[in-house]
Amino acid sequence: MSIKIIDTHCHLNMAEFDKDREEIIKNSVENGVEFIIMPSTELKDFNEEQTLCKKYSVLRYLVGIHPHEAKECSNSDYDAAYEHLKDENCKGIGEIGLDYYYEHSEKKTQKEVFNNFLDIAIEKNVPVSIHSRESTEDMIDILKTKKGLKGVIHCFSGEEKLLKTGLDMGLYFGIGGVLTFKKSLLRQNINIVPIERIVFETDAPYLAPHPKRGKRNEPLYINYVIEEMSSLTKQSKDILAKSAFKNSMEIFSL
Ligand SMILES: [Zn+2]
Repeated sequence: MSIKIIDTHCHLNMAEFDKDREEIIKNSVENGVEFIIMPSTELKDFNEEQTLCKKYSVLRYLVGIHPHEAKECSNSDYDAAYEHLKDENCKGIGEIGLDYYYEHSEKKTQKEVFNNFLDIAIEKNVPVSIHSRESTEDMIDILKTKKGLKGVIHCFSGEEKLLKTGLDMGLYFGIGGVLTFKKSLLRQNINIVPIERIVFETDAPYLAPHPKRGKRNEPLYINYVIEEMSSLTKQSKDILAKSAFKNSMEIFSL
């Protein structure tokens, strides 16, 4: 029997999947994938993902503006988010956050957009999927002001400070392909992440785990991540998968 999987962060609407999206979905469903959650990065994703959800019952989506695109965000984006949150397939806000590594949008703008979406999530009582890269100090400062926030630190890098803040706030941690990368901090620190707070994710088409590293990622590759986590933490694959499954179901009200 295959393990039950929920991919909590998969950009399945992206052009990388245009040629064989249907096949990927079918194969995923036949091999244990119960849900695939698609985060948005820009406004056009909202409608694209909504349409895909109508076609495939395994899909759900999130609405939000990625920090790279924060400079393009305007009031109509927030209005659209509110509208989409009325759709039963729309399960929350994401991906939102801060990215000071690329800094495609000014830091000030990134913080403003992030703050606004966090406030919407709290107001509507829906979960968030948070992106954080080279922005730990500001990230922690902002998160600490958001009482009542729920959701996932997506693509968790293993940083201890962020782990502590997330744990204190009741947030969860998205574990993906990075865990299988030999030099990653996540690999070193995976034993201090409580399994009661993990979910699995691909961030597909990006970040495919070893031995698929460099290839296009897809939901079933989560099996490699579970395998790796099991060998690093000495916990059975079954226990890890069950915990992540339960957590994902709860957080995203699936
Ligand atoms: Zn992503």
